[in-house]
Amino acid sequence: MSAPRPQPGILEITPYVGGASKVAGVENVLKLSSNENPAGPSPRAVAALKAAAEDMHRYPSTDHAGLRNALGARYGLDADRIFCGVGSDEVLMLLCQAYAGPGDEVIHTEHGFSLYPICALAQGAQPVAVKEQDRVADVDAILAAVTSRTKIVFLANPNNPTGTMVSDPEIARLIAGLPGDVLLVLDGAYAEFVEGFDGGAAFVEKHQNVVMTRTFSKLFGLGGLRVGWGYGPADVIGVLNRIRQPFNMSAPALAAAEAALDDVDWVEETLAENVRNRDWLAAELAKVGVPSDPSHANFILARFADEAEAAACDEYLKQNGIIVRAMGSYNLGYCLRITIGTKADCTRVAEAIAAFKADRA
Ligand SMILES: *Cc1c(COP(=O)(O)O)cnc(C)c1O
Repeated sequence: MSAPRPQPGILEITPYVGGASKVAGVENVLKLSSNENPAGPSPRAVAALKAAAEDMHRYPSTDHAGLRNALGARYGLDADRIFCGVGSDEVLMLLCQAYAGPGDEVIHTEHGFSLYPICALAQGAQPVAVKEQDRVADVDAILAAVTSRTKIVFLANPNNPTGTMVSDPEIARLIAGLPGDVLLVLDGAYAEFVEGFDGGAAFVEKHQNVVMTRTFSKLFGLGGLRVGWGYGPADVIGVLNRIRQPFNMSAPALAAAEAALDDVDWVEETLAENVRNRDWLAAELAKVGVPSDPSHANFILARFADEAEAAACDEYLKQNGIIVRAMGSYNLGYCLRITIGTKADCTRVAEAIAAFKADRA
């Protein structure tokens, strides 16, 4: 019997599993599993979305000029070299589609975002996982893994799920060591959470093989709308624009993103609240014997004695209506990733983990 067969690599993909949002039989569930903004979206974004609904019979803009110009003005970037995607996921996927294929290698770090190997395999390319040093990306190990087949290096900075960062001098060293035909993708999904950090934009300005990706899903609270963007050399952006769908971004999503970007006070408040609650939660957990690396994002990676303890704590939290992210699929089974919620959310999860630890003492 013959049957349709997908392209090589596709059946090797382990489908992405998102953060859970329900626990059977438990009410008042607190979801801290997807690094969403606990404050929800900016009210201005909601208003823009509602207003755009009236025009949803119209096709959206194909050039995304409104949002690109707003991003360019806000971050001091050349709007002509900004690319908008259906979440930064689409930008990452299109970069792989354009620059990697069968026989090629795509490097990501050991505990890098799990979409990277999916993007590589979807194009028939081989994902190559490179060891980290104590949950921090290791530039020397990345450079040592580069071969003549390497086409792309994905590096999230700060990284998800570790929350750790690589310094600008280290990124500069990575770029200096990479062959010019290898594309370095700096994934800045959490860049806004780091004060004074440009997400790698300055490196994009200086090099023909560096691209930065960003998103409205995390800080800006628009995960459900799917808006991301990339910034790169003109050639790379020109390539992405050739292969994307002409109407990839919906008009309501573009309008809401522009409004969210404009709500500067709301963003500042969210950032301050995140830092306060993150530092508080990390300190509370450390007190009960659950340490974490200093996080540069809106989550912490809590470390437990071993996989069994992390799994037991995950289960205990679930029974108490709190959903965090188990890390087995990242080879971090001894950890749980906890999104920073409101002060009340953080208090609830801190108390539950303290009670769990006390029960076992
Ligand atoms: C959440 C996340 C993304 C993707 O976000 P989109 O919702 O697709 O914009 C990309 N990279 C990392 C590291 C993330 O955590």
